[in-house]
Amino acid sequence: MNIAVIGGQWGDEGKGKIVDLLTPSFSVVARYQGGHNAGHTVFVGGQKFVLHLVPSGILHADVTCVIGNGVVIDPVALFSELETLSDAGISTQRRLLISDRAHLILPYHREIEAVSEANRKDRQIGTTSRGIGPSYEDKYGRRGVRIRDLRDHGPEDVLALLIRDNVAARNRIVGGEPLNWQVTHKQVIEAWRRLQPLVTDVSVYLDGVARSGGRVLYEGAQGTMLDVDHGTYPFVSASNGTIGGVFTGLGVGAQAVDGVLGILKAYTTRVGEGPFPTELLGDAGDSLRDSGQEFGASTGRPRRCGWYDAVVAKYAVRINGFQNLALTKLDVLDGLSEIKVCKEYRHPGGSISEFPSDVTTLEQCEPVYETLPGWSHPTAGVTRFEDLPVEARNYIAYIEEVSGAPVGLVSTGSDRDETIVRKNSLVAQWLQ
Ligand code: GDP
Repeated sequence: MNIAVIGGQWGDEGKGKIVDLLTPSFSVVARYQGGHNAGHTVFVGGQKFVLHLVPSGILHADVTCVIGNGVVIDPVALFSELETLSDAGISTQRRLLISDRAHLILPYHREIEAVSEANRKDRQIGTTSRGIGPSYEDKYGRRGVRIRDLRDHGPEDVLALLIRDNVAARNRIVGGEPLNWQVTHKQVIEAWRRLQPLVTDVSVYLDGVARSGGRVLYEGAQGTMLDVDHGTYPFVSASNGTIGGVFTGLGVGAQAVDGVLGILKAYTTRVGEGPFPTELLGDAGDSLRDSGQEFGASTGRPRRCGWYDAVVAKYAVRINGFQNLALTKLDVLDGLSEIKVCKEYRHPGGSISEFPSDVTTLEQCEPVYETLPGWSHPTAGVTRFEDLPVEARNYIAYIEEVSGAPVGLVSTGSDRDETIVRKNSLVAQWLQ
């Protein structure tokens, strides 16, 4: 069975740990969207790995990792990540494949993004300014540079013309000292020399894996609420992290996905700007941030923290077809006397139980909470469901009820072993 692992909130749900845990049951881990702003943190035997572009499956020696056409690739960031992995003793040789249809992030994308964020003044998106959005803009503007374009490079070819035009646009937008397009062209050709051995037709490769009975794990980056179509637009990423992205971002058909696992934190966080109905400000938010170590893996930015939002969860279940949920960071709630769950929103126009499509409505929403008792006995490190305090089990049962999908896996710590896989759950089947 092939399984997609997708974030159900605003990213940072702990997908990296779950992908890493599931990986031994798969032969391929494939990433289908986003860029190197993703930061998946995985602890293995106490050693910390932060992955940005390379799928978390790389930490398992027998697994091949794939970066699909839906991902945008900054060669500098990719090479730096490969070097970090190599320094840590993780070999990526012949275990990493990159789609020839993937688009590149080039230095001018970063500059354009910085200018466009600054121009937004008080309506900034809070992007990481790594050039990811502008690279996707070029893709949809049909002027992007694809990895395939680097293959037949020459002084007057399509690649040279593309870069010349894109650099001219950069010089108009960014101003200041003009960039010489030939410098960028040369950098790109140099990047090709290192990229070339990794590049393949990913769709053909995955078809071959399926035909030979291999199992594929699809790894989503960011989360449902940051999806460019289904998230809190415009405070979103530039790609489709939801289930549809698997198909377009890798070139696989509907039969290629057998199951969808939604990753949701036992509370909610988000980075960047945009409405967040269950956000906790002041001491309560600070305390959740400290207990959960909620600081961005890529940027170090403090994450905004709040209670679990079942309106968001139910929406993510619907958009992605989550069949099972993995509830992560339950241990972060240890010791709280009471825990709140938002079951619907109160809005001047009436109560709202389906996630609204515009941020203005969302900004006017007040969470309606159900308050549940907390637990004093810690859940940290618990590996059997029956060993959880009864209040924690009741909390999980309530989450299942209001989110509309069963919780098959509970994460009680950052290490692989600090995990509960529930007996008879779909996750338990997927792990076989
Ligand atoms: P991702 O982008 O969805 O992979 O999430 P991040 O890696 O940005 O953030 C998840 C963070 O939480 C990482 O530092 C993980 O090591 C950590 N983490 C994952 N699961 C758990 C858990 O169950 N409990 C605790 N305390 N930390 C966890």
